[in-house]
Amino acid sequence: MTSAEEQSKDFNFPALVNGLDFLVSAVGSLSGDNGQPRPREVKYAVLHLQAAVETLLKARLEMHDPKLVWTKVVAFDQRKHEAGDFNSCSVQIALERLRDTVQIESAIDPKDDSLRELGNLRNRIMHFGWKDTVVAVQARTLPVLDLLVGFVNADVLPYVGESAEAWSAEQQMEQVRAGFRHLTDFIELRMQAVRGQLTGYEHATAACRSCGQFAVVLDGGAHDLTCLLCGRQYGTGEYAAWEFIGSCEHISITEGGSGLNGCGSCGASAVISTPLAYSPESDTWICFMCGATFESVCAFCDQANEIIPEMDMCSECYEIRLDNF
Ligand SMILES: [Zn+2]
Ligand SMILES: [Zn+2]
Ligand SMILES: [Zn+2]
Repeated sequence: MTSAEEQSKDFNFPALVNGLDFLVSAVGSLSGDNGQPRPREVKYAVLHLQAAVETLLKARLEMHDPKLVWTKVVAFDQRKHEAGDFNSCSVQIALERLRDTVQIESAIDPKDDSLRELGNLRNRIMHFGWKDTVVAVQARTLPVLDLLVGFVNADVLPYVGESAEAWSAEQQMEQVRAGFRHLTDFIELRMQAVRGQLTGYEHATAACRSCGQFAVVLDGGAHDLTCLLCGRQYGTGEYAAWEFIGSCEHISITEGGSGLNGCGSCGASAVISTPLAYSPESDTWICFMCGATFESVCAFCDQANEIIPEMDMCSECYEIRLDNF
């Protein structure tokens, strides 16, 4: 039996309508259709979006085979399943099973960054309190909405068949698509407004930790670093560099770690490796104080500097070595 024939036997399940309802709620709040959302609306939007991710992925697994929703597939028990008395699989496992077992058309990478970031955002809201701006969250959720809309269009709706649920799912998706377009336009407008300040600085622009957009310019000015899109404040370049690696000097030193790499250009200890606007798919060594970029860091003195090819060593260390001979 081919996987297409197998899939044609998939049956319709109300979990879909439930998942889409979370999605409608999230998009409705985030889209700003009724004016800029208030922080409280955005907070619930994030929780509902995370719920939509989990419910929709599992609804698709359930349509294929209810066992796949269980963490331990072999322990599946229909009665417990119907009672909801079981541990369901994580988002990452759900994505792996959709890709490998169900073999959906537009598989989503189980390690997708935007889904992981959404999970982190949800955790911050639930456990640690939360300080991002509304715009930051709106921008952050866009790629997740993009994934979900694509997934539902390509891999869920075609398998629902003719039914009352199919009709309401289509109605719900109409609302979602409209809200998604609105939100995309809104963020695009905001980006256009700051594009003038970003053009020409692609080699020194990092992606904001809050909104995920390439809008933090490390231009070497004496001022503190700020995200031009969402307004997130990062303090000095040195603070920002620690923030970007998800730590701070105090924690690193108490845990027996070391400081950041030093900059061969300005001398600050603020060099880390991170994606920049000109090359978003790979990391570049950059000094958060002066904006100088480097090909690598000296393996001997930890300074970012001109490195002598094939020696892994900066010219200063090389000279010291020569002197010692
Ligand atoms: Zn930002
Ligand atoms: Zn520097
Ligand atoms: Zn060196």
